[in-house]
Amino acid sequence: MRYSDEAFEFMMQTLQERREKAQNGSEKRRAYVYEKLPEVKKLENSLKDSYLNLYQIIASHKSNAAEAARKVADDNLAAQQKIKQLVKALTNDENYLEPHFFCKKCKDTGKADGKRCECAEELLKEYMVRSLNESSSISVQDFSRFSLEYYPQGEIRDRMASYLRYFKDYCANFPDGCNSLLFIGKTGLGKTLISCCMAKEIASRGFSVLLVSAPDILRKIEDEHFGRSEGSTLDSVIAADIAIIDDLGSEFTSPFYDSALYNIINGRINLHRPTIISTNMSSEKLNERYNERIVSRLLNDFIPVLFVGSDIRQQRSVKRYGKK
Ligand SMILES: [Zn+2]
Repeated sequence: MRYSDEAFEFMMQTLQERREKAQNGSEKRRAYVYEKLPEVKKLENSLKDSYLNLYQIIASHKSNAAEAARKVADDNLAAQQKIKQLVKALTNDENYLEPHFFCKKCKDTGKADGKRCECAEELLKEYMVRSLNESSSISVQDFSRFSLEYYPQGEIRDRMASYLRYFKDYCANFPDGCNSLLFIGKTGLGKTLISCCMAKEIASRGFSVLLVSAPDILRKIEDEHFGRSEGSTLDSVIAADIAIIDDLGSEFTSPFYDSALYNIINGRINLHRPTIISTNMSSEKLNERYNERIVSRLLNDFIPVLFVGSDIRQQRSVKRYGKK
């Protein structure tokens, strides 16, 4: 994926903050140990001196330099062991003084085995997805905003209640056992609200969540494709841990949109990343509107979730204005 300069800046900045945090934590723990065990302080200071010593011995090129250097190295090893023993006796953790890096693999440098570490890749991806969300016309919501009272009592409300449990489990277990979902149902039945709640819940667990409307994201991909703007939106959509795409079918019909849509759906399926798509169209309408490749992906690789009831938004506004 092609990342923006801002994404790299965000990555460098975050890595630096992580290193500082690890360092500060280690310094705090060291101060505590020094206070409890002044001997550790002495040993660490003597270690520092001995490195200086070692350097001078090597630089002196005296005939016995090699032997002297070996002795210093042995003494250092012994001092390090002694420090570990003392620290362990105090804290039950022999590595208590070591910095606790966010990423143990690269020690928060962003580089491991001569290439960019996975943690740095994650940060770049996080930035790209977040900046797409910032330009999105829909935003995350809390599950507490979702109320079953707008659904008629009986079968419909029961069905929505069981969906709600399913969606909450989906978010809590994400990505384990999470299939792609296709929300089908008329306008105002809570598809978008549920999508926004799920986005918040999954994002709060540290996953990268893309929450966009189909027309917005397709237009963006088109603008970039034809050089009207810069970016790598298509890659970002595919890279997100979960992509939640609202209002499929409200975009203009165009062969470019169809191919972009197929690339999104197919690209994510190939990478086993779940996608949630909501649409006001019935499966018959989807069949008429989209080409066979897209329809077959939507109907075979997504679990359909049928939303029923009557328009929640109308009911809400009736309630708000007190006309009942
Ligand atoms: Zn790393």
